[in-house]
Amino acid sequence: GDSLSPGSNEEVALTELESRLEKETARLKSIHETRKSLPVYQYRDDLLNAVKEHQIMIVVGETGSGKTTQLPQYLVEDGYTQHGKLQVACTQPRRVAATSVATRVADEMGVMLGKEVGYSIRFEDKTTPGTTFLKYMTDGMLLREFMIDPELTNYACIMIDEAHERTLATDILLGLLKDILPHRKDLKLIISSATMNAVKFSEFFYGAPIFNVPGRRFPVDIHYTLQPEANYINAAITTVFQIHTTQSVPGDILVFLTGQEEIESAQQSIEEIAHVLGDKIRPLIIAPIYANLPQDQQSKIFQRTPEGCRKVVLATNIAETSLTINGINFVIDPGFVKENSYVAASGMSQLLTVPCSRASVDQRAGRAGRVGPGKCFRLFTKWSYFHELEPLPKPEILRVNLSQVVLLLMSMGIRDLVNFPLLDKPSIPTLSKALENLYVLGALNSKGAITRLGHIMCDFPCEPQFGKVMHTAATHEKCKGVLEEAVTIVAMLHETSSVLVNSRQDANKSGIVGQVQSDHMLYLEIFNAWKDMDYSRSWCLDHKVQYKTMLRVRNIRDQLWRCCEKLGLAALNEAALDAGNPLQDVEARLTRSFIAGFPGNIAQLGSSGYRTMGRQTGGLTVNIHPSSVVFQMFRKESKKPTKHLLYQRLVLTSKEYMRDCIPIPRENWLHDMLPHLFAKGSK
Ligand code: ADP
Ligand code: MG
Repeated sequence: GDSLSPGSNEEVALTELESRLEKETARLKSIHETRKSLPVYQYRDDLLNAVKEHQIMIVVGETGSGKTTQLPQYLVEDGYTQHGKLQVACTQPRRVAATSVATRVADEMGVMLGKEVGYSIRFEDKTTPGTTFLKYMTDGMLLREFMIDPELTNYACIMIDEAHERTLATDILLGLLKDILPHRKDLKLIISSATMNAVKFSEFFYGAPIFNVPGRRFPVDIHYTLQPEANYINAAITTVFQIHTTQSVPGDILVFLTGQEEIESAQQSIEEIAHVLGDKIRPLIIAPIYANLPQDQQSKIFQRTPEGCRKVVLATNIAETSLTINGINFVIDPGFVKENSYVAASGMSQLLTVPCSRASVDQRAGRAGRVGPGKCFRLFTKWSYFHELEPLPKPEILRVNLSQVVLLLMSMGIRDLVNFPLLDKPSIPTLSKALENLYVLGALNSKGAITRLGHIMCDFPCEPQFGKVMHTAATHEKCKGVLEEAVTIVAMLHETSSVLVNSRQDANKSGIVGQVQSDHMLYLEIFNAWKDMDYSRSWCLDHKVQYKTMLRVRNIRDQLWRCCEKLGLAALNEAALDAGNPLQDVEARLTRSFIAGFPGNIAQLGSSGYRTMGRQTGGLTVNIHPSSVVFQMFRKESKKPTKHLLYQRLVLTSKEYMRDCIPIPRENWLHDMLPHLFAKGSK
């Protein structure tokens, strides 16, 4: 008959469908419950009413109360997108936060990431025009959109999140928004911030109302060390095991470190020690999180800790406020952060590890008290907390090289930089230095107006210096024809910290490349070798190159290349190749192009080694980083160091190091490329 016999295919399919439906219903119910349990949910209606009444509003609340994930959803639910015609945007200072939160929110709303809910970060746009109505993005990306559409006509609401971070892009956005809000009366602005500073934002926006979302917070016991710690990483690792062996589970540990390298080395040590201890201790789950961590590995921090285990999250200050990890009871805080600092006098940017502010370490301690009473172990003294730490972090605008920003503002037609509204204004000398740099690069003319080259530099989604390199590689008489190579190197330079699994020496040993004379050429050869193998994964494995990183590089390279095509540089380069085929001296042409782009990054050999060529101060003694191929070349192969050397970055650790170096074999190249800075040499 027609009746189903037990175990028939149809019946199996039906039960499977039923169980899937059940699971999905349970999931939706649990999402709904979770959303309702967040502190901000109680204020949903009040918040929406306040948004209706006021064009600008400041929202302050404890981290983890639901500001980032919920507020934008409330706005969508309240109809601000006009059935998807307009967009709600939420900016984040950090890429990882933008992608992670967007993923979470798409999940909560039950939609596909990249369709209705998406994210946009530099070099990666996961949105669908016409379909995406809720967009998480880095503050830098919204700044770029201002360039294309200065009225932000596609947006109904903008939420500037994590405003207390005071990134450069956030500060500038606030200035630009202050400018356009009076004539975009229907555009709503929410500024959300974790802690203090709210009054400062309010005053900046003509006394906009401050909405406070009270959060849950349990007491946190603070412990200090009695003596300063000589090695905070070792101290942190010891503390992890002390907690693990003396405190009862559950209760996860959050350790604040300053960057990927520290996190990786700490992870390795912890795993080794745990391995030695074996089953004398309960299992530890190590979960790292930092800006460059591949996306598929990021979710580990959010996974529930299995019973009887303890999770140790090793994080940069991204876990201070941007990401909330549930289940943390213990915080270990060495009290340091890596900061980009610009010294106007020498014209250089440096990535420095510096002590955090008091506000930051307090914020970090608070992370231990979200699920219950917690403990925070500070690896510095109580005296240091009260006497050495600055009360607040210094806003980025007061720390960085302003060239890129100034160029961006000028390209948007803002000429009166001194009167542009800013929460904190950079000093006049810093502004003048930025203008001078731009003039040297040819982005501004002698009257201070932006040039055609300046506009081109602005159109590239990278620092203006790199734009100049690519422009030069396509057009300069002594360089042209090497645009494609330049684009590859620029793309690689965006990811150099994580291209090679081990060291550069390996790259040489494993025979990817023959003998290269510079890190730049090494990067080029690595990329080309990979490209010749059809971008294969196994090639990367064989040559100890990070496959995921290379995929990102390829993506960046494609975007930069498309930009070159749009700007007409690709065609100019093509013409040069046609005229001069086959091209001679690729390496020399590339070196000259980088000289043109980075006139401030040249070191000169003196009696005591290399010195930077800062024009206002005397030079600074700098060393070639041991990981550089140039270091090996000058040392082992007893090749004579060149009189000049170009470096991409300075890093201060135990010494001042130059990273990513390219020797300048002939002095007259400096004069050729930078005639106004270098007199005609003897050779
Ligand atoms: P706030 O912005 O106020 O700090 P959030 O909206 O970021 O708060 O976080 C609200 C809750 O959502 C937190 O409990 C957090 O743990 C959770 N959450 C956020 N992102 C994720 C994610 N990617 N996976 C799991 N939970 C998340
Ligand atoms: Mg948030």
